[in-house]
Amino acid sequence: METTRGKVLTPCFMPVGTQATIKTLSSEDVKFCRAQMIMANAYHLYLRPGEEVIKKAGGLHRFMSWGGPIMTDSGGYQIFSLALLRKVKKEGVEFKSHIDGSKHFITPEKVVEFQRFLGSDIMMPLDECLRYPVSRNNVEESLKTTLDWATRSKNRFKRPLTDLAGVFYTPARSVSGPGIRQRSMLFGIIQGSTYLDLRKRSVEETVALDFDGYAIGGVAVGEPSELIHEVTEYTADLLPEGKVRYLMGVGTPLDMLDAISEGVDLFDCVVPTRNGRNGQAFTRQGELQLRNAPYKEDFAPIDEGCECYACKNYTRAYIRHLFNTDEILGLRLVSLHNIYFYVKLISASREAIVENRFSGFKKEFLRKYKK
Ligand SMILES: [Zn+2]
Repeated sequence: METTRGKVLTPCFMPVGTQATIKTLSSEDVKFCRAQMIMANAYHLYLRPGEEVIKKAGGLHRFMSWGGPIMTDSGGYQIFSLALLRKVKKEGVEFKSHIDGSKHFITPEKVVEFQRFLGSDIMMPLDECLRYPVSRNNVEESLKTTLDWATRSKNRFKRPLTDLAGVFYTPARSVSGPGIRQRSMLFGIIQGSTYLDLRKRSVEETVALDFDGYAIGGVAVGEPSELIHEVTEYTADLLPEGKVRYLMGVGTPLDMLDAISEGVDLFDCVVPTRNGRNGQAFTRQGELQLRNAPYKEDFAPIDEGCECYACKNYTRAYIRHLFNTDEILGLRLVSLHNIYFYVKLISASREAIVENRFSGFKKEFLRKYKK
């Protein structure tokens, strides 16, 4: 995938920096992990630090010192999961901030504009994401809203930002040369819950709007694993071959490998950092809970043969000690290892695909991981 900040090889895993930081890691750490692209969240950044600060900083890339591509989530998911007292209207959504209760009204147009101010390389349109289970009627109603918002987002995206009086957008350092106008991308989001015919309708009407890539949204929102895979495979199959397919918010290493088989190119998930902060490490031999007693005198690295600097320099016993004594270095080391592991797993999958041996690679990974 070509972005203004460089080529992104797929399949690709994006570490999640909700608040413009991959929790406990610096942008240099994330670069060390060879992450190609990261994800940040428009809803959170809209509330704090807000548009003015990021504009003055010269965009999100400068603000957080990340030179690679950034995808931003529209905040739809957060508005529907975090915000208080939301009211969906035809024009947009009214909600109260989960932080201070302040009232906001946002529209699909505003969401595109805000992501432009951030300097996002890939933007997501405002959508309505429903949790599972949900009635067919509600899904149909919601789908209408999401499709209407998708159309309006695309229309706003096509018009330059300069129609906003007094606005000046400064691109990040890494973009140079004349005609600095950034060509960012806008993806469409497929919804429809677990109703396959509604998924199909969502694909047809969203693809008709011709987005730069397509996200499969509304999966892993409470439904059982078999349904996640059924919906993913069905939806991915209907999406155009030549455009990136992005599975939002999934998942574990096994979920991602299955989704790659199902035709998915792009992933984001908080699991490696969230679980890492609880002492759970992902390794080629499976998941370890480093707080547990067996690691008390285990002087091996988290994952033998891993080249991350947590594994090269520190032992399981030391990391267990850090968790036991509430030392924040423990959170950092396991988060770093987990991000390194995730990025490496997906890049190894890519090599296997290129060499036409992905199913063997997956089988071998599962054999060791499940042992
Ligand atoms: Zn490691």
